[in-house]
Amino acid sequence: MKPKFDKKRLITSVVSAIILIIFMLIVYKYRQNETVSFNETAFVMGTVFQVNLSSAQKGDDPSGELVNIGNRLERNLLSWRLDSSEIAKINASAGKAEGYELSPDMEEILTECLRISAESDGAFDITVGPLTRLWDIDGWASGEKQGEFVPPDKTEIEKALSLCGYDKVEIRDHRIYMQEGMSIDLGAVGKGIYLDKCRDYLDQGNALSGVIVAGGSVLTVGDKKDGTDWNVGITDPFKDGELIGHIEVEPWKSVSTSGSYERFVEYEGMRYHHILDPKTGYPAEKGNASVTIVSQSGLISDALSTACFMLDTEEAVELAERMGAEICIIAEDGTVSGNIKLIKIK
Ligand code: ADP
Ligand code: MG
Repeated sequence: MKPKFDKKRLITSVVSAIILIIFMLIVYKYRQNETVSFNETAFVMGTVFQVNLSSAQKGDDPSGELVNIGNRLERNLLSWRLDSSEIAKINASAGKAEGYELSPDMEEILTECLRISAESDGAFDITVGPLTRLWDIDGWASGEKQGEFVPPDKTEIEKALSLCGYDKVEIRDHRIYMQEGMSIDLGAVGKGIYLDKCRDYLDQGNALSGVIVAGGSVLTVGDKKDGTDWNVGITDPFKDGELIGHIEVEPWKSVSTSGSYERFVEYEGMRYHHILDPKTGYPAEKGNASVTIVSQSGLISDALSTACFMLDTEEAVELAERMGAEICIIAEDGTVSGNIKLIKIK
């Protein structure tokens, strides 16, 4: 008997096949859009280091290597507290006629720092070592130093100041020469340099997007999925641990904030913070509560946030613009100025 043509069954099969194909397409599309997240929090270079990245492609988690990069940077190059670092060896060579032979990495960092020192007319000065060590606000604020903090006296400050001055440093034929007693402190730019190394490692061509945070510095990584700018939160200088608002930042930019609220000690009702004015030898007093800088370079954003903190608003904005950076200043009276829009939390 010839099998009977079953029209109903055929329709059911065709419909089932279509549903299956649609289902497979949805699964395929979903898998294509599947994102992998990489989140890590670690203590690196004396500060909290956070990785919050996602990728549209499966790949290795970069967090571990990013942490290693920071630890190597601190140990081998930047920390004057560790004898192993190049900066400690440079400082130990101060006063020696033969100077010290710089690694290519360090020569590049120091040359850029000295350029910013000159551009800021010494507001940012990497030779503040004798002064930062005399005050040691970092030591007091971290609790490493015990007892009662007493500000140094004028004679001590003047002696330390006589050993500061970026214009007394000479780099010639890949060697650095400094006078005896001088010392370099890269504390103001360490985190920015770290973010530059993170950016170089992540290679701007890959599929990662998100943010990396090192203390008061942030790197925006890649494009946001919806193509809008990243929102970077700005700490409220007047309320402990709270945000005052956010700024909108393009991909692959570094954002650094320096503030008097970050690290300070008190003596007889006076607050002494960690950003020292090389013109006076005392903590900077320009009525600024915090300064945020956005730049292509982490080193520049970090150096300028420190430099602009001890300048008048006009000078600070002029310096930032001259260096191709954006700036947001929050004054002690709450006034906000600069060329970046701060979108305040209502
Ligand atoms: P933070 O490290 O808290 O983010 P900054 O980036 O502003 O803050 O750096 C402050 C550190 O920089 C100080 O702890 C000190 O080591 C160093 N420093 C202080 N004053 C100056 C200055 N005028 N120029 C360069 N470095 C400075
Ligand atoms: Mg800084």
